[in-house]
Amino acid sequence: MNKKRKQAVFKNSHKPRFQLANLKLPNISFPKLKIHRITALVFTVLVSIAVLYAFSSPSIETIKKHKQLQVQIPVQPLVNFTAITSDDEVKWKEVTIKKGQSLSSIFKDLNLSQTLLYNIIHTNKSAKLLSKIKPGAIIAFSLLDDGQFSQLKYKISESEELIVKLTEKDNQLSTEIVMHPTEINVQTANGIITGSLFNAGKKSGLTDAMVMKLAGIFAWDIDFILDIRQGDSFSIIYEKVYQDGEFLRDGNIIAASFTNQGETYEAVSYDDGNGWSYYNPEGRNMKKAFLRAPLNFSYISSSFNPKRFHPVQKRVKPHRGIDYAAPRGTPVYAAGNGTVIKAGYNKYNGNYVFIKHPSGIVTKYLHFTKKKVKKGQKVTQGQTIGTVGSTGMVTGAHLHYEFVLNGVHRNPRTVKLPKASPLAKNKIKDYLIYATPILSQLDSITVDKVAIQKHLENKKES
Ligand SMILES: [Zn+2]
Repeated sequence: MNKKRKQAVFKNSHKPRFQLANLKLPNISFPKLKIHRITALVFTVLVSIAVLYAFSSPSIETIKKHKQLQVQIPVQPLVNFTAITSDDEVKWKEVTIKKGQSLSSIFKDLNLSQTLLYNIIHTNKSAKLLSKIKPGAIIAFSLLDDGQFSQLKYKISESEELIVKLTEKDNQLSTEIVMHPTEINVQTANGIITGSLFNAGKKSGLTDAMVMKLAGIFAWDIDFILDIRQGDSFSIIYEKVYQDGEFLRDGNIIAASFTNQGETYEAVSYDDGNGWSYYNPEGRNMKKAFLRAPLNFSYISSSFNPKRFHPVQKRVKPHRGIDYAAPRGTPVYAAGNGTVIKAGYNKYNGNYVFIKHPSGIVTKYLHFTKKKVKKGQKVTQGQTIGTVGSTGMVTGAHLHYEFVLNGVHRNPRTVKLPKASPLAKNKIKDYLIYATPILSQLDSITVDKVAIQKHLENKKES
């Protein structure tokens, strides 16, 4: 991440229009709309916006084109960095920096002088970056037949490569930065869940990481461990990042919808000026005070069969929580911000953690293998507080989770929680202008409900 920020150092660097990291979306500017004489009636305003938007706002198609215009064609031939290559008969030797290894020792190993290293680093600002090299970084060296230094290459960032050359003629060092621009393609996908969410994702071309990102958007509304059913469906508009014509990595999710047991949730990524976040069609943040399921569902793979788990049958006390069967070691999250009021062990609960949250809510987590927090500690939502285990009076590894509101046990999967507050009035207008075309694009790729029904019926027959 730091490396990317260093791009600004170079005069000839291509400052990316799009921030590829940090789940960010492009800054797309929209024509400023002037709505004269906004009446006191919000309804009228909304109607005006809808009309204006229909004539003025860009479609996804435009966004796509906009992005493609940003792509710069590399001026230099692109270098394959993963193997020892030879271009113009130049042989390359790759060195991966190990922990505790300095550039100085690398030069020594290659029988190159410390004076040369000093001169390289002091050639200019760009070359100075070599002195801040971190373990795992790769430097490729090209040496002449007599072992003398000829060139080195170092990938400064995802899209920039530093090349240092020593000219044979006048023995001068020169540096240049070669760009390997990345290109973002916007893609759409949808799927129906017939087995696991990961399988459905795979079928529609999503990586597991992308499926996790998708689930992460709806983690405050849907319990992805216990509430996913056959026939649930999703649609997604997302980015794929390419470099040198090849898939490099997943990008961000621009918008997504998820239908769980007949209820559809939609989210659009938007920057209200304080950073990117996901908002529902009414402009409310998708983030709420409590996660529906307080554990990392990616650990519960399709090969793990929760039905194999049988809770303890003979209970002294009535069962007042939810049991999440999960492999030992699965990280358990704090469902919301709060303070640890208990972190201990007893023969019934095993290792357990209780968290006190605002508004009279306490959440309880039992049977950990390991606790990761201490009494009195402040925790934030999503922070790992322990790992799933089978300590205490249990027959198998699982998380026992309780949600207590004003001393009364509630079902955390259905308990009504306060909605996140919507965007400020002066921001909601811009949000709707931005989100409406994206949401209609999302609707257009939404899985046909009739097709889902047919699909499921065919499945039953076969
Ligand atoms: Zn239980």
